[in-house]
Amino acid sequence: MLSDDDRIRYGRQIIYPGFGEIGQKRLKASHVLVIGEGGLGCAVSMYLTYAGIGHITIVDDDSVELSNLNRQMLHWEGDIGKKKPVSAAHKLRKINSGIRITSVCKKVTEDNVDEIIKGVDVVIDGLDNFKTRFVLNAACVRQKIPFIHAGVNGLLGQIATIVPGKTPCLACIYSTPPVSEETIPVFGVTPALVASLQVMETIKLIAGFGETLQGRMLYFNGETMEFAYEELVKNPKCSVCGAGRRKAKEHRK
Ligand SMILES: [Zn+2]
Repeated sequence: MLSDDDRIRYGRQIIYPGFGEIGQKRLKASHVLVIGEGGLGCAVSMYLTYAGIGHITIVDDDSVELSNLNRQMLHWEGDIGKKKPVSAAHKLRKINSGIRITSVCKKVTEDNVDEIIKGVDVVIDGLDNFKTRFVLNAACVRQKIPFIHAGVNGLLGQIATIVPGKTPCLACIYSTPPVSEETIPVFGVTPALVASLQVMETIKLIAGFGETLQGRMLYFNGETMEFAYEELVKNPKCSVCGAGRRKAKEHRK
């Protein structure tokens, strides 16, 4: 149910054709998980909060450092040394007290990933490395939870919406996790842009309108200001979502 305050706060999105009060109710009833509360995660959790997602869980094990402050907009000078989910939740609750925010100060691993993502409606990738992304991708496929992948590097960004059972997964696209640089160059504007697109995808996916990036990767190049798409192809032998799945399982035993 929407309250009178909800109707006022979200009025400008409720009047959007095809969204309406039904769309807003769906956002309010949803639980979205943000993995990583850095450049992408801060902007993602902020726009999820503005949009009225009912429950947001943010997961990160890092503490705020001075070198984060060129891009991680929910962490301020006075937060240096604080755990990122704690620093972020404090601001998010001030932006919108009607949202339930859960902070989880943990590193996502093979052992805890299934417990962390259990029961959520959408998982958002705010990570800076492919190794953990692959762990998350496999868990989302196992639990059939949509996964909004994104990555940034300098002025480059990429984003794809993975819907298990419907679209290729991350392991279909990359047969092995690409090696991530230890320190990725980045301007604050790149994750801000890509994070906005991730939340746009999330809103459409939950409310059920528009077209999402299912089965497509969107690439953004800020140096040339070009957007490009790649149609993604499902790998029938994929070790995560395809025929290779059983083999990989048997191999593990
Ligand atoms: Zn796959």
